[in-house]
Amino acid sequence: MFRVLFGLIAAIFMISALRAVIGSVARLFTSTVFSQSTPSNGPTMRPPTADPASQVLRRCAQCGTFTPESTTKRVGKSEAPVYFCSAECLQKSAAKAS
Ligand SMILES: [Zn+2]
Repeated sequence: MFRVLFGLIAAIFMISALRAVIGSVARLFTSTVFSQSTPSNGPTMRPPTADPASQVLRRCAQCGTFTPESTTKRVGKSEAPVYFCSAECLQKSAAKAS
């Protein structure tokens, strides 16, 4: 009976210790990767447009061209935005709507 209890406590202790080790290793790994990806002499805060992951393609509502979100003209409510590739397309859509 006591052997089972002791084994259970030992198992719980080992699992928690293992989790702590894995967590510290993972933190070390991610911090190493992060420090490698960002140059130390560069600015700490890069503009979001410089990050390729933020270059989400948005479809122009007028001509259907896919353009990066940073260069699109965004119109409408924040929950349902409409994107245009250029000011021309925005004007064309506005002329069509009226
Ligand atoms: Zn367009």
